[in-house]
Amino acid sequence: MNSLITTHEAARLIREHLPALSAIQCPLNKCAGRILRETVTSDRPFPPFNRSMMDGYAIRAEDIDSTGTFQITIQVPAGNPEQSIGPEAKNCAEIMTGAVVPADTNCVVPYEATKRIDEQHMQLLNPKAHTTSDCIHPYASDRPAHESLLQSGTQIGSREIAVAATCGYSELSVSKIPSIAVVSTGDELVEVSQQPEPHQIRRSNDIMIETALVRAHLYTQQSAHLPDDKDACEQPLSKLIADNQIVLLSGGVSMGKKDYIPEVLNQLGLKKHFHGIAQKPGKPMGFWTNDNCAVFTLPGNPLSTLTCLHHYVIPSLFQAMGQAVATTQRSVTIDKDIRARDDFTLFLPVALNSKSVATPQPTQNSGDLVRILNSDGYIVVPPCAEKTYTSGSSFTYHCWL
Ligand code: AMP
Ligand code: MG
Repeated sequence: MNSLITTHEAARLIREHLPALSAIQCPLNKCAGRILRETVTSDRPFPPFNRSMMDGYAIRAEDIDSTGTFQITIQVPAGNPEQSIGPEAKNCAEIMTGAVVPADTNCVVPYEATKRIDEQHMQLLNPKAHTTSDCIHPYASDRPAHESLLQSGTQIGSREIAVAATCGYSELSVSKIPSIAVVSTGDELVEVSQQPEPHQIRRSNDIMIETALVRAHLYTQQSAHLPDDKDACEQPLSKLIADNQIVLLSGGVSMGKKDYIPEVLNQLGLKKHFHGIAQKPGKPMGFWTNDNCAVFTLPGNPLSTLTCLHHYVIPSLFQAMGQAVATTQRSVTIDKDIRARDDFTLFLPVALNSKSVATPQPTQNSGDLVRILNSDGYIVVPPCAEKTYTSGSSFTYHCWL
């Protein structure tokens, strides 16, 4: 490991060296979570006609007299072209929600405010209560035609899909999702289904990474486990790097005698951008690239892997996909004093008490996998000469995926 760089410098180096991902056309029902790469424009005004907001009767407000009676001349269901009630005073239409309000009416009265007298007639219960425009969603009142509704760089959720659908987009230009390999390393690790010997533990980082990726709308193309053996991991790692745009390695990157990963990456000709960040947990994290692939080497301790994944990997992938604004972070205040470091950034697990107040949940160490269950996410605690932040201080919060 070289001299440590700051968290900001690490994020900058990743940003600079992670190639932008190209755009592809994607069917609308496969766009959830992806980053939009075009502008979505309204092809028609919103709403495209005077829309009835209620089931009831469309009348002319000026026809209301003290009796409040009307003659029903037409039925207007949703989906019918525009109709007319005819010129005679006190004609009306029986109308349904979503139907086109007849051009010769100007007020919709819901059934609840009326009494049906017979097949052809209805009466307003309170004639004075109704006036022009009631219960009509006016033509073009929400948005005009040809207006930009969604900008490139937006992450697509259900609301964005609905807007694209209503504007007639059956597919959208979105960023490609990179092919990702998740690779764990370590001779002490066994399969989840295996009964570990006393000196062994089950692998959990790889499935943890894969789960966070899925929750971020990314996915793992390939996964592998490598032994702590330089020669044995060179060939499989070389193939994983050739086959994928992103390789996420966990473990084998610290100072241990068997932490061979950095050496193997060097041998495979990858360029090291950094190895070692002034942060806790996750100090030994590194970042390497060649023309085809970016390799994130995440330290193996579960909390280190999880934090580095959330802090660097996922945000930088979304940035490479063209996301305009990161959506997973916000500001919170803490409700207890916390110890800081003057030389390291701390990523401190916290439990949320409310949307904006968090209680620190310090862990014993970064191998403390179960204790993370007490937290909802982590805050970024910058280095501080006084080594304390008092209760009420605010920090950037990231939620666990
Ligand atoms: P390393 O970074 O390889 O020195 O690993 C640090 C610690 O994390 C060791 O205690 C490992 O056993 C543990 N560890 C590494 N990889 C995994 C994994 N895939 N699942 C669970 N624990 C792991
Ligand atoms: Mg190891």
